[in-house]
Amino acid sequence: MQHLHRSLRRDAHLKHFGRLQYSLFLKGIGLSLEECLVFWRSGFSKITDDQFNKEYRYNVRHVYGDVGGDGNRRGNGYSPFSCQKILMEHPPGPGEAHGCPYRHFSIENLTGLLQQVGIRDSEVLRGVKEDKEKQKFHLACNRFVSRPLIPQDARLTKIVFSIMSTSRRSRKLKMTGRGRPISSRQLFIRMSISSVAIY
Ligand code: SF4
Repeated sequence: MQHLHRSLRRDAHLKHFGRLQYSLFLKGIGLSLEECLVFWRSGFSKITDDQFNKEYRYNVRHVYGDVGGDGNRRGNGYSPFSCQKILMEHPPGPGEAHGCPYRHFSIENLTGLLQQVGIRDSEVLRGVKEDKEKQKFHLACNRFVSRPLIPQDARLTKIVFSIMSTSRRSRKLKMTGRGRPISSRQLFIRMSISSVAIY
């Protein structure tokens, strides 16, 4: 997900499957449709409102079941992709940022990505390389997840909890009518500030 986020920040754009994978992640961690739309609108900073509304808004709404067929609406859209789905379906092509880095990156690019996000431990890097060569992608990922914590982890954890708690608080205030609800714009500003802090 870090790779998707970095690509979005770098290009102010993600292709279809990248948007889908990332939108479903954001939905899974608790962003409402409105908050997700604000996130994407701000992320696609090089295009006009008109272009965003014509080309991208519908797909985000579809993910949340706000539009589409009866089945999609009744089921509230799609669920976040499982690892299995990400590993097995729709391998990324040129210019695409979705997928699983442990499966879809070359070992050189994967090592470079891990080093960029602060992994310097040669044991971890060697283990990831071996697991990838044996196509044990989950094990390689687990080495990253279960490694000793580094400063970036603390910041990232704080950001995710901040997004989740802000989103929940906003919804609670809207439901109870108490206080002044946090607007999507305020939420996005908080997320943007947090993102700048780690990237
Ligand atoms: S193995 Fe890790 S990086 Fe790959 S899809 Fe699953 S959680 Fe994401």
